[in-house]
Amino acid sequence: MSSLPDGCESKRILVTFDIDGTLLKGGENANTGHKRSIEWAVSQVWGIEATVQGVKHAGLTDPIIIQNMLLLHGKTEQEIWPKMNLAIQLAGEYFEKTYSTSETVVVLPGVKRVLESLQRRGVYLAIVSGNLETIGWKKIERAELKPYFMTGAFGSDHTCRGELILLAKQRILQQCGLSHDEIPWQVYHVGDTLEDMEAANYARVKGIGVLTGSCTDVHSLSSAHPDFVISDWMDGESELLARLGI
Ligand SMILES: [Mg+2]
Repeated sequence: MSSLPDGCESKRILVTFDIDGTLLKGGENANTGHKRSIEWAVSQVWGIEATVQGVKHAGLTDPIIIQNMLLLHGKTEQEIWPKMNLAIQLAGEYFEKTYSTSETVVVLPGVKRVLESLQRRGVYLAIVSGNLETIGWKKIERAELKPYFMTGAFGSDHTCRGELILLAKQRILQQCGLSHDEIPWQVYHVGDTLEDMEAANYARVKGIGVLTGSCTDVHSLSSAHPDFVISDWMDGESELLARLGI
């Protein structure tokens, strides 16, 4: 991004996007290749046949999902965390080998138009996802969304989603060669889970909820006080642009 559009010189806007249930269709029948990669890595590293399906996973980072799978099978945190990096590596490698046949990627209706609209208006866009980095980028590439995003922060970078928002902003600043306090930033995180909205609060940015994933009504997100909630991307574009002031 070379410059900001007219009228935006006094602020810079960064919008970070979750992947599953936010940009891409999620749900029980999606992400089968992703889930299988995690399950395979768990079986290789800890010798346990565990399923992602058996634990809460929406809104959590992949290492926390792996931890929860193993805790259910009686492993202790001391047995889990020293081997987590190996599991992350193996899951990423397995996904890369198998994703072309095992992963169904469906871009949610209206997403591309919204991303184009934001990009055209000079908004900085980044991914913030609990997916392991290899897996998250592969999905985004396959969905042909990669050109919209300057950078990303992933579950393999940190277990805390709020930290990922801070990391994504830091990476944007680095890429642009900007110092933190040069121009005020307006930062938003978009996601489909309560955990996304809590992460926005953690990072002290504005949370934008979308009802395209695991939460289907606004009340499911209200305890984290999102700045606003969009029902879907087909109807949400004008409200989003108006709220962002662009
Ligand atoms: Mg999600």
